[in-house]
Amino acid sequence: MITPNIHRQRVRTEIQRLPQGYALKNGRKLVNFSDNDYLGLSFDPRLQIAAEAALQEYGVGAGASRLVTGNHPLYTQLEQDLAAYKQTEDALVFGSGFLANLGVVNGLIPKEDMILADRLVHASIIDAIQLSGAAFQRFRHNDVTHLRELLQKAKKRCWIITESVFSMDGDLAPLAEITTLATEFGAMLIVDDAHGMGVVKHGLCSAENVIWVGTFSKAAGSYGGYVCATKALIEQMVNQARSLIYTTGLPPSVIAANIAALKIIREDTALTALPLQNAQKFDASAQSAIVPVIIGSDEATLAAAQKLEEAGFLVSAIRPPTVPEGTSRLRITFSAVHQQADIDRLKQAISKVTQ
Ligand SMILES: *Cc1c(COP(=O)(O)O)cnc(C)c1O
Repeated sequence: MITPNIHRQRVRTEIQRLPQGYALKNGRKLVNFSDNDYLGLSFDPRLQIAAEAALQEYGVGAGASRLVTGNHPLYTQLEQDLAAYKQTEDALVFGSGFLANLGVVNGLIPKEDMILADRLVHASIIDAIQLSGAAFQRFRHNDVTHLRELLQKAKKRCWIITESVFSMDGDLAPLAEITTLATEFGAMLIVDDAHGMGVVKHGLCSAENVIWVGTFSKAAGSYGGYVCATKALIEQMVNQARSLIYTTGLPPSVIAANIAALKIIREDTALTALPLQNAQKFDASAQSAIVPVIIGSDEATLAAAQKLEEAGFLVSAIRPPTVPEGTSRLRITFSAVHQQADIDRLKQAISKVTQ
């Protein structure tokens, strides 16, 4: 029998998110430093109005898979906007970021090829790779020297997979160097930009060998995943990505909200600068909206999160297997809507609980 570890138990705690970066838990209003709504768009009236209008015009659900009757007109607009945003030829919207990763890996990579992925890539990428049956090696986190060694040794066509912003560490991949390496070795590069979109501007790379994956569930405040790539690769996914073909299209209201969110992200550069600015008020070395405070043991991390909650802050305790053993941490996320005073108070509270 597996001995249950009480510090590893996961539970469905009821939380009601509120506008402006707050949340209700057990009847108390807490400052929410725990979710990925980096621009506060999940409560933005422009998204809400767009979603309501689409709900009235197109109904509640998509009715079928996109390749049957689920491909409502809003999809076309969103995909055109995404391609323009990422400066790629085309784009393809999936049901979620998880499904987009399944689709890009299994729709494009034959099992005869080899996948080289950063050691810290997201669980959805690992699952996608395992399903693909392709040879797979991990390179040390952000280590381009190690990646080069693996590319030199590989006897097959290689696909490199990394994240732009790492979801549990908040650090950035050296994308320019990795892109150069990919080009040098004739490899393809897949970049998961889940936590970069709307927060961190990468020199947007429209190179033919770079494929972008992303999600509307983080800074865009809504839901749904996407892949941006050449027309040929998108067409290949439309024909071969099972996570696109065998699932119902997203509700029209969700796509309408995504169109509104992407417009804001492309146009409002003052807003998109704020999450990083707020993170840097907390930690001057922050590179994204995510700042980890590594504590070590599961128990101490849970206790620290509990004390922060008592002080009025919602901060998540992240434990293995989400992060490597012995690196349990508080994962603090900053949003454009956070107030300076709340960030200052959080800083004081954290220094108390981690003493
Ligand atoms: C959240 C996340 C995903 C999954 O996106 P969803 O839209 O929530 O399914 C994929 N990759 C990374 C790096 C993520 O952080």
